[in-house]
Amino acid sequence: MITLLNDNFSQLNNFLHEKSFSKIFILVDENTHEYCLPILLGNMETDLAFEILEIEAGEEMKNIQTANQLWEILTEMKADRKALIINLGGGVITDMGGFVASTYKRGIQFINIPTTLLSMCDASIGGKTGIDLMHYKNMVGTFTFPEQIFVYPKFLDTLPFKELRSGFAEMLKHGLIADKAHWDNLIRIHTLDTEALIPHIQTSMDIKQDVVEKDFHEKNIRKTLNFGHTIGHAIESLCLEQGNPVLHGEAVAAGMICEAHLAYLENLISEEDAQLIIENIQRYYPYLDITDFKDEEIFALLLNDKKNIDSKINFSLLSEIGACTYDYECSQKNITGSLSFYRRLN
Ligand code: NAD
Ligand code: ZN
Repeated sequence: MITLLNDNFSQLNNFLHEKSFSKIFILVDENTHEYCLPILLGNMETDLAFEILEIEAGEEMKNIQTANQLWEILTEMKADRKALIINLGGGVITDMGGFVASTYKRGIQFINIPTTLLSMCDASIGGKTGIDLMHYKNMVGTFTFPEQIFVYPKFLDTLPFKELRSGFAEMLKHGLIADKAHWDNLIRIHTLDTEALIPHIQTSMDIKQDVVEKDFHEKNIRKTLNFGHTIGHAIESLCLEQGNPVLHGEAVAAGMICEAHLAYLENLISEEDAQLIIENIQRYYPYLDITDFKDEEIFALLLNDKKNIDSKINFSLLSEIGACTYDYECSQKNITGSLSFYRRLN
């Protein structure tokens, strides 16, 4: 399912030869067009016709208008049900391309070739596709697995540092929720660069894949992947709405700090563990200013979270470093307390 590509992309070429696709569509954004597509095309061996579909880069593009444009282009180009979409990019491309593929003609096949750290370790794995609606993230989407995920870590060489750091947040999360040794290894990294990170990508991918295999439809253990994301998504949405967008991983890092403190307030983890987690996340991530966000605004978003059932805010909270609970209902006082705690870190 997940394959680490060697330098001549032979596994990808074998896959394309074995399957009988009618045509290939390669979805890129402007950056992956420039930096990653030449590497892909330089190594891809196929007799099939292919078309490049390019969208502008950025989360703002992950919406129904872009999906509609792509459905129309596929229709105009007579993509049939045996067409293949190759999503070459970060999480925006894999979410968007997966969504378009899973809905076009009730579903055509797609593969993910993630090019950001975040999409390698997280977004490309697990079969969640989707787009944003209004200022709500991933409100419309499907659960559809890609045919394959091909990972080529050298794509990270051109990735800007901030993007690399954004993906690192998901790696830290994987360690915190499922594998203390992974967390311990990651916090030993002093300089966040591709050389330091590449050796740990496989472990992070395996954690995500393992959790997803146990619970594809997010009925139980998959919910642990939402650690840091309940408050993180609210912060991400409010920053975007205010015109100061932050990267997903930056918001998740802030969310993990809030939710680590929340776990302490709920007596799930010790103060020492909470402190250790918070200090280490702070080592890598700048403080996000949430002073302008009112608690009511944050609560309105928390209440709209897809994980909630019966209008109750459900959290995935750590029970120790390396283990995580889910469907945990916190007191409003403690949620407010964790937000105040974060504001005081400024
Ligand atoms: P992204 O796709 O916007 O990529 C980040 C930036 O890096 C973009 O500007 C892109 O053009 C550029 N880029 C990508 N690869 C590059 C490369 N190799 N060299 C240079 N530039 C490159 O963002 P992302 O952080 O990868 O993903 C974030 C998205 O993923 C969010 O929409 C989030 O909701 C989604 N996500 C989905 C899941 C899931 O399970 N489906 C999980 C986590 C996140
Ligand atoms: Zn995430």
